[in-house]
Amino acid sequence: MTRKRFENKVAVITGAASGIGAATARLLAREGAHVVLADVNDNGGKSIAADLGPTAMAVKCDVSSAAEVEALVKAAVERHGRIDILFNNAGIGSFGTSVEIQPAEWERVIAIDLHSVYYACHFAIPHMPRGSAIVNTASISGLGGDYRFAAYNAAKGAVVNYTRALAVDHGRDGIRVNALCPGLVETPITAGVQQMPGLREDWLKRIPMERAAQPEEMASVVAFLASDDASYVTGTIMVADGGRTAHTGQPE
Ligand code: NAD
Repeated sequence: MTRKRFENKVAVITGAASGIGAATARLLAREGAHVVLADVNDNGGKSIAADLGPTAMAVKCDVSSAAEVEALVKAAVERHGRIDILFNNAGIGSFGTSVEIQPAEWERVIAIDLHSVYYACHFAIPHMPRGSAIVNTASISGLGGDYRFAAYNAAKGAVVNYTRALAVDHGRDGIRVNALCPGLVETPITAGVQQMPGLREDWLKRIPMERAAQPEEMASVVAFLASDDASYVTGTIMVADGGRTAHTGQPE
């Protein structure tokens, strides 16, 4: 029997047209949530929403724009009256050292991967009742330095500590805030890197479970953090990486 942990809960999910966001939208909807799928990829969001029942809706939103995130929150609240779950998940990758990355690219990565989380929290929290939950997608790249991921490491590291600040500020409002730190997940964001000669093998060697995750394996962690199963869990940085960050030695 399918559990219904999110019966009549309103869930806003950014980056919902693909990968981890899409898998989470599907899982939350299956367990009863009214999902609001936000993405720059409007067609992708709409086609997933169409599969998720009459209360699912898609909103075109560039999360790096404060005005567009404000409009997203307004649309969700006009339709449903409140937001119970906010999953700040939209993000982009970025490859390069600080010398290689140009200022415009740096600013774009920080805007999409970090500023977006603040915009969504700023506009949504006043509409979130006691018992609500926020989950922010950070990354294990936010827990340590990767070679040539300078902007991404900076943005995700900031999301990790911003999550703690949100949990501290809003605990008394009855809003829990946690971060998900995925390792390597098979989604379009990693497809390019995984096709680079030798890199996929190199990454897999460092993962004790010797495989990448599927997006559904991240969705189930997000669902736990967003649900009442995690009713006393806040300010936590939840790593789901097949043991990658537990592994401190050289690969065999
Ligand atoms: P994905 O590319 O499948 O999905 C990302 C989604 O975000 C896409 O639908 C894309 O259209 C959307 N998006 C991008 N820029 C946007 C913007 N400006 N406004 C609104 N939507 C935008 O990738 P994914 O792997 O599902 O990534 C989801 C999150 O997980 C990201 O924050 C990413 O950094 C993080 N993450 C992924 C991995 C991995 O290995 N896949 C690892 C660690 C963290």
